This record gives sequence, C-alpha cells and structure tokens, in this order.
Amino acid sequence: MKVFVSVDMEGVSGLTDPAEMRAGGRGYERGCELMTGDANAAVSGAYAAGATEVAVTDAHSTGRNLRVDMIDRRCTLARGPYKPMRMGEGLGSAFDAALFVGYHARAGTPAGVLNHTWMGREILDVHLNGEVAGEIRLMAAFAGSYGVPVALVTGDAAACAEARELLGEVETVAVKAGSDRYAARLVPPARAQEQITEAAVRAVKGIGRFEPYVVPAPYTLAIEWASTAIARSCAVIPGVRLAGPRTTEFTTGDYTEIMGLLGVCSTIAGEVGCTGADYG
Ligand SMILES: [Zn+2]
Repeated sequence: MKVFVSVDMEGVSGLTDPAEMRAGGRGYERGCELMTGDANAAVSGAYAAGATEVAVTDAHSTGRNLRVDMIDRRCTLARGPYKPMRMGEGLGSAFDAALFVGYHARAGTPAGVLNHTWMGREILDVHLNGEVAGEIRLMAAFAGSYGVPVALVTGDAAACAEARELLGEVETVAVKAGSDRYAARLVPPARAQEQITEAAVRAVKGIGRFEPYVVPAPYTLAIEWASTAIARSCAVIPGVRLAGPRTTEFTTGDYTEIMGLLGVCSTIAGEVGCTGADYG
C-alpha cells in the first residue's frame, strides 16, 4: 500500500507567526523541527497501519523546510524549489491515499490561521471551474485526477472544517484553533503529534471509506491577483488570458498543467510583486 504525504507549514502544530514560515525569520528553524515532527507523526501512523511505501513532499515555499536529518528513515522525501508539481510533486495513480499535513484554510477564511491561497500577499482568490478553491481543494482535485482519495488533513480548525465541507468523509486533526490570522489557541505539539499518528492509522486502515475528489475536466483556473502588473505579466504565458484587470484564466484538460501553471505564475508573481512592494 502506497501513501503520499504533502506537508505544508502554516498548519503545523505550534506555529502562528509569518516569521516562523520564512527562512531567516524569528522561530523558523524551530518551526522546521515542528513541521518535521508533524510529518513524521503521519508517516509513522501510515506505516503502523500497513503502508509499504510512504512518499513525503515538502510543500511549503521553496520546499527546503523539512529537516532531512530528522525525517523518518523509512520514507522518501521530495525536496527543493521549482518542483514541477509543487505541493503535489511525486503524486500519481500508483498511490492508494494522500495525506495533507500542516495545511491551512483558503484566503479570506475567518479565524483561519495564516489563511491564504498559494501566495499570501500576491493572490486575493482562486477559482477552479467557477468555484472558490484554496490549497486543500486544488490539491484534492490533483489527487482526484489520479483517482487517489484524500484520507487525512491536519491543520488549524478552519482548515479541518474546510476539508470536511469539501470532502465529506476524511480524517482531520485540528492542531490549533485560530483567534484570527496570526493568533491561535494551541494543542501542545507533543499531544497534537500523537493525535496525528492516531488519525493517520485510522485513515490508512480505513482507506476504503474515502472517495477521490473528482473535478470534471476541462479545468479552468482563475486567479485574482493583488496587482494588475502581476496579471498582465502572467497573461503573457501562451494559453493564459486576462479575464479582468487583475484576473487571469487558463483552461486545460490536463490537471498537471494546472499544478505547473500555479508554480510558474507564483514565480512570476514573486518577481513582479517585489518590484511593486508598496501597492497599498
Ligand atoms: Zn505554505
């Protein structure tokens, strides 16, 4: 039984501060240890439940956050920047289930700790086939395009609620409850990680309970950018069109192009966003 684990950082137990998400920021190094602890908790639960192969992907920022010296020795780790499928690098039809660890609520979610979609400052909102999409939905649809169900989502309470609303049957672990975007009431990481392991065991043992989340093709990805300059820059990519002064749209029958485009556009947006940092 093969299990895929995508690990983001904003929904990791113990973390609430943007500085903790950023290399060089206050608390970042400790944050990487906590992120690795949450990842390992899911990996050990998956193995305890009978997984024979677990593939972990570092899904946060440039993908260099998980501590390679601390990661569970039994799994593999996809690491580094510009992975073609970004948060979903390595996922494919050979897997029996996907686990999302350290995930967060979509942009604009009340009391969602560090809520955002793909980029915190540059992206206001994302729609997939006309319906609002955060990272949980974008990634669940990617897994679904391979027929792979999402069996576990860990993060703050808002992320867990978003996952249950979207997926119905799914194991969740709320490791913190947001007061607002940057503050939360925490479950201490030592206990949160025990809960992640227990939930991963239930998820992998009960794999037949979960249905793949399938968005019918063709897929249309609409991104509302914070800046007209980013929208215009991304619209230069063949196939990407301006659907409004700061909204781009792209349609394809191949979901890997959706994942790839999110990556390429965020690279462009990072550059353009930096040159016009003070847009107000
Ligand atoms: Zn992240």
